[in-house]
Amino acid sequence: MEPFTICNALIANEGKEFRGGVTIDAQGMIERVFHGDEYPSGCKMVDAGGAYLLPGAIDEHVHFREPGLTRKGDVESESKAAVAGGITSYMDMPNTKPATLSRAAIEARASAATGRSYANFAFHLGASSNNLDEIRNVDCTVVPAVKVFMGASTGNMQVEAEALLPIFQASPLPILTHCESDLLIGCNLDDAKQRYGDAIPFKEHAAIRSDVACLESVKTAVRLARQSHARLHIMHVSSALEAQYLEELKGQGEERVSAETCPHYFTFSANDYKHFGGKIKCNPSIKYREDREAIVRGLAEGLFATIGSDHAPHLLEEKAAPYASCPSGIPSVQYALVATMELVAKKKLSATDVARLYAHAPADLYGVEKRGYIREGFYADLVLLQKYRRAQRNDAAIGKCGWSPYEELSFHYKVKSTFVNGELVWEAGRGIVGAPRGMALRFKRER
Ligand SMILES: [Zn+2]
Repeated sequence: MEPFTICNALIANEGKEFRGGVTIDAQGMIERVFHGDEYPSGCKMVDAGGAYLLPGAIDEHVHFREPGLTRKGDVESESKAAVAGGITSYMDMPNTKPATLSRAAIEARASAATGRSYANFAFHLGASSNNLDEIRNVDCTVVPAVKVFMGASTGNMQVEAEALLPIFQASPLPILTHCESDLLIGCNLDDAKQRYGDAIPFKEHAAIRSDVACLESVKTAVRLARQSHARLHIMHVSSALEAQYLEELKGQGEERVSAETCPHYFTFSANDYKHFGGKIKCNPSIKYREDREAIVRGLAEGLFATIGSDHAPHLLEEKAAPYASCPSGIPSVQYALVATMELVAKKKLSATDVARLYAHAPADLYGVEKRGYIREGFYADLVLLQKYRRAQRNDAAIGKCGWSPYEELSFHYKVKSTFVNGELVWEAGRGIVGAPRGMALRFKRER
């Protein structure tokens, strides 16, 4: 490819915000990062027009539905939505059909993504009650983490409680947990059925999949991590109660445990079920206003290490079903970064916070090689974000299911351009302009 320079950008990277640009070499790597107007002459120029330039987001938490559920989404369709949203690398979850529980399954998924994915990719290994050897012998250079479903969700991969400790002990990789206590959820659901029969209103989801159910399970996961000396990363924290517990852990200097939250927990609250109904039904549930506020505060105070979209597409007709049969999950990968930037517009976070949460921190946590930072010698995975004085709607959803609740919201930022491995793949007003040349992520961990 022809080398080029992005100039006139507002770079937000590694805690610093400054005017400048980057030069990208013929191999798609960042050759130079410069301040002000010191850009080299004789090189093709891309004028950022003063837009924010951030490292492309690394989304540690997506469900692209391939293999097995490809009527909802596949690598090609969902990676297009990802780059439209400024996400240049993603890590896909194992609750596919069949579930991703072995080295062979991961290799098959990586080979299926090669030549079809617009963003860089990796696949988490799932844990079941009988794949301990696979976990022990996982290839740490290509797999980011082991995912443990501690509460049943789509795919029914819940692991029996007694099987959990050996999994935590066996994993050489970080353990990612979906924490919700089924027992408590079952009781809450029975209560709701008694009260409402078959017509459970969607707002009850916040009470059925309650904060207490999350916290109970989080505490179990932390206990297991301490017993096993595993590195634990708690996925999709959704409540004030959990945020408070994370604060306690932080106070104790617990370094083995970190947490992720997702844009829907700081964008929506239980009040929104009235309008969106099943469209915002997801697990863990979107909870109350106080929970949303606690999540925003937690982001500002550093209680959360990362943000992940938990992109989980379902067809609109599936989402139109009554509460009990409506599947959980929100298509969000195209809007997760601009929804996070909305916290910058509201002065709750800085743009460098967003770069840390959505790029630096996942790169560090998993040891992603040469990505996640705007640094010389790193891959040119970059996103330009244009600011608008007045919030406006983003583009329509381009994922396979063709909808997202975020389509109805207005944002102060919009993705102007997305570069993956130095190639412009998405541009506002033109759409997908590059080829599906996403690469398999590589991981290198300090031992
Ligand atoms: Zn998920």
